[in-house]
Amino acid sequence: MGLNPTIFKMPEDKPPTRYRGRFAPSPTGPLHFGSLVAAVGSFLEARSRGGEWLVRMEDLDRPRTVPGAADDILRTLDIFGLHWDGEMMVQSARNEAYRAALAEMEKLGAVYPCACTRKEIADSVVSGIDGPVYPGICRAGLPEGRTPRAMRVHTDSRPVGFDDALQGRISQNLETQVGDFVVRRADGLFAYQLAVVVDDAEQAITHVVRGADLLDSTPRQIYLQELLSLPTPAYLHLPVAVNERGEKLSKQTLAPAVNLANTVAQLCEVLAFLNQAPPEELKNVDLDDFWQWAIAHWRADHLPAVRSRQLSGI
Ligand code: GLU
Repeated sequence: MGLNPTIFKMPEDKPPTRYRGRFAPSPTGPLHFGSLVAAVGSFLEARSRGGEWLVRMEDLDRPRTVPGAADDILRTLDIFGLHWDGEMMVQSARNEAYRAALAEMEKLGAVYPCACTRKEIADSVVSGIDGPVYPGICRAGLPEGRTPRAMRVHTDSRPVGFDDALQGRISQNLETQVGDFVVRRADGLFAYQLAVVVDDAEQAITHVVRGADLLDSTPRQIYLQELLSLPTPAYLHLPVAVNERGEKLSKQTLAPAVNLANTVAQLCEVLAFLNQAPPEELKNVDLDDFWQWAIAHWRADHLPAVRSRQLSGI
């Protein structure tokens, strides 16, 4: 049956896909300088290209979620003038979508149940890009009498690569460098790698700008996008702010929360960290004028092409 062209617009009538970026904080604590860098970088890249900027609250990992942190982060974004477009997406409300994606992968024979405990894996393996490489114990079927815990996706040795807009070409052999990775955890929660892929597709994200701590996760995400026939966005991984010991600023390294009182001065520090050369007097302007300057002067080609950068004074 043919489609009625007055009801169904033909694809060529659709406007070209507009830039859609996002910021996806995990509510594990208040925003600190490191997360502000990711928020500002993704915001400016989107706004300077006339694009939309969405926010997604990544509260999937309930054991790590801190009560009140999500509201605190949203309030902070608002106070800093980081206003997002449309409805915010909240991962804890998205289990149905993750379940459907997993069912799809089961149908494809791409996943398998795994009975191994963390200890069993740690005892037997080589370490990879992101922890131990799973040695494939349950790959050919659960050993006799073992109870399934997690679900893993089969990887293969075909290189999975992409051109990061800042960090250059990244390519991995998932089978040897990562191993069959978990898509549903032993505690029943869906893994970040699966959720992020399903959600970026649902929010029709065209460009992901985030911290380089996630650079090595990207091939896994592209692999899942391909399995699920989802589009692959463009990626740009910003340098991560580290302290003088080379540790990423985070709750664990006791990074201080951003200060809600002098927003413009801190935003100028973020711009300096990202090599945007803010003039000295920008510190004294109001928030609206700050954003006007920052959007007009944003230069992605001036960003430091490194994975991490030390923040002075911490
Ligand atoms: N929720 C992740 C984090 O806060 C970011 C995920 C992403 O940007 O893909 O580290």
